[in-house]
Amino acid sequence: MSTDNKTKKNSHAAQVHWDEKGLPYSTRFDDIYFSKDDGIAESRYVFLDANRLKERWDQHSIDSTFSIGETGFGTGLNFLLAWQLWNKHDHNKNAQLHFISVEKYPLSKNDLTKALALWPELSALSQKLINAYPPQPLQGIHRLNFYDDNISLTLSFGDAAEGFQQLAPISKAGPHVSSSPCAIGSLRPQIDAWFLDGFAPSKNPEMWKDALFSAIKNLSGRSTTFATFTAASAVRKQLIAIGFECQKIKGFGRKREMLIGKFSVEEKQKGRKPEVDEQTTPTHFRDHKHQKIDAEPSWHLNRFSSNKKVEHCIVIGGGLAGCHTAFALAKKNIRVTLLEKNNTLAMEASGNRQGVVYAKLSPHNSPLNTFNLAALLYASQFYHSLGLYEKCGDACGVLHLAINDNLRTQYQAFCETFRESPDFSRWLTAEECEAVSGVPSTFPALYLPQTGWLSPAPLCLELVKSERIEVRTESKVSGLQNDGNQWEVTYTNKANSTETVYADAVVLANAHAASEIEQSQHLPLKKIRGQVSHIPSTTSSKELRKVICGDGYISPALNNCHSLGATFNLHEYGTGLTARDHRQNLDKLTSLSPALTSNIDTSLALDGKVGFRCTTPDYFPIVGSIADYSSMKERFAFYRKKANATIDNYGAYHHHLYANLGHGARGLCYIPLASEVLASAIAGQVLPISRDLYRHMAPGRFIIRDLMRNKI
Ligand code: SAM
Repeated sequence: MSTDNKTKKNSHAAQVHWDEKGLPYSTRFDDIYFSKDDGIAESRYVFLDANRLKERWDQHSIDSTFSIGETGFGTGLNFLLAWQLWNKHDHNKNAQLHFISVEKYPLSKNDLTKALALWPELSALSQKLINAYPPQPLQGIHRLNFYDDNISLTLSFGDAAEGFQQLAPISKAGPHVSSSPCAIGSLRPQIDAWFLDGFAPSKNPEMWKDALFSAIKNLSGRSTTFATFTAASAVRKQLIAIGFECQKIKGFGRKREMLIGKFSVEEKQKGRKPEVDEQTTPTHFRDHKHQKIDAEPSWHLNRFSSNKKVEHCIVIGGGLAGCHTAFALAKKNIRVTLLEKNNTLAMEASGNRQGVVYAKLSPHNSPLNTFNLAALLYASQFYHSLGLYEKCGDACGVLHLAINDNLRTQYQAFCETFRESPDFSRWLTAEECEAVSGVPSTFPALYLPQTGWLSPAPLCLELVKSERIEVRTESKVSGLQNDGNQWEVTYTNKANSTETVYADAVVLANAHAASEIEQSQHLPLKKIRGQVSHIPSTTSSKELRKVICGDGYISPALNNCHSLGATFNLHEYGTGLTARDHRQNLDKLTSLSPALTSNIDTSLALDGKVGFRCTTPDYFPIVGSIADYSSMKERFAFYRKKANATIDNYGAYHHHLYANLGHGARGLCYIPLASEVLASAIAGQVLPISRDLYRHMAPGRFIIRDLMRNKI
């Protein structure tokens, strides 16, 4: 079951009591969030100083990422203090801080705001955190990037052990597979300093369990340190058992002792089986009746095959997927050469005048619903934090009209779940819709006040504005090959001559054109024609202030013209505008709001745009390492015989060849998160989503499904 974003009844809300001094206290755990004497001094002493952050940052290498892992995000005080210290430090401009924290009982935004108001010296940073803090109640993994300060925060809402297990590389210790840990990319993510917070082990034994320590071990390596406020001997023993050298030091204030320590790699390697070459590892399979408890499939994982960092990546395709990928990679200090066959960016399916940041939302707990919500939250934060709505669109708000009973039930339940986050979503009656949108509405709606529309072409130009990104237009890729060390991409340039470019990694972000590339031609990408109509605004339609989505959408006017769309034409490949499709779009608009079409002059020949969405059979995008088709088929052939077998083997993937494809009509919403997933994997950082959810996007899934269905 996926762990991301499940909207639950709020049994996981923090139970905060405010004492007479205005300090937060957990009634669930009967424990304090921070010292009553001086919370800031305590956090600095116990976590920042004891992990020697300042000294280590002095020596920190120029363009690498320093990662902190924390158990118990609570009020975010530790995070803000680490951020403050980071900002005071004189870093190279490429250095990055990644703070990864787990929290089982998240504070509401109101409680977070109240708690952080206690610290005036942190107010500027607190405000940034409060603005970006995800709506509650929420489960799963969420990433917030504070690009101005080179800080990323990965928040995992859920149990600490489960959260870190989802982020850690996994080791399959079975006798028939390599015991070396695997993850999505081919570099191993590592935490540099652990803040082992969380309520006292005596009050919260549930958290300090074996599974947590085993996940900590999988994320630790040479130079990893920890610090914790507790000196409990059970904690000390567990830390020693997983390979930390532990030391007791004086605790903060009246506390006698606390623990600090350093990871010993030798200790970790003790008892580890020798590594076996992935290619020669025999595939092992088990029937379910003999299954171990750890039955997580591993076909979507890569074995780490080198420690070499990716420094340069070629991105093929200059639409939204390519430009977002380039942006995310550049933010992780990876140089990008972006190849686009047209003479400018965002010419094809990404080229609409106005696109909506939209995903289908539902309170039901399915992987796709979970992904949709995670993607929407990430996209929203992304566009706001970079000021992209101001530059390339408008965060005017989007109304998701409940055009049938089923949607009404779903949307109402969704809004009920997030009733304490009205700035994120609210339920509006038809009358309220009219009041906020400026035009009469026949339907009630799920209203998302912070999302809106964006113009993809200027957005793409903004995304590639980086000294690390080189855009080569009129560069049509003809093939790619790997010489075992690097990728060679061949393309035809403007003058029709052949050129090559070399890099450590390649990302295919070229929609259907990926089917023309040998390594990705097995991907089941579908082309669906969509026609958008541009309708001149009228006196009444100019009143429209929100994007309205139902069966189709209409945007507020941009330069006296609304975008209205889009049709879905399966098996139709004509590129010219058709009167039939304009009619369809207008009919859909009439069903959404008759008032909007009533005074449109339909005798006019409307302008518009035809594009081809790149879709997938299961509606999930295709994001991650591209499988080596024949090796994968061979390695997992037993699925043909027994679809529910557990095959203990890692997937067969082309080394550093990735896909960011199949976003259908949801590109503006899905692509920011998908690109962050890819860039994290390529840079060897933990993912911004759970491994479970990643499996649903992994390019190899179609081969596995086809084997299970005996189709190949
Ligand atoms: N580090 C926090 C700060 O800077 O404000 C204070 C942390 S507070 C002392 C302990 C936190 O651990 C609480 O927010 C609590 O909900 C969380 N917690 C308790 N049990 C947990 C578990 N099993 N998994 C994750 N978080 C847990």
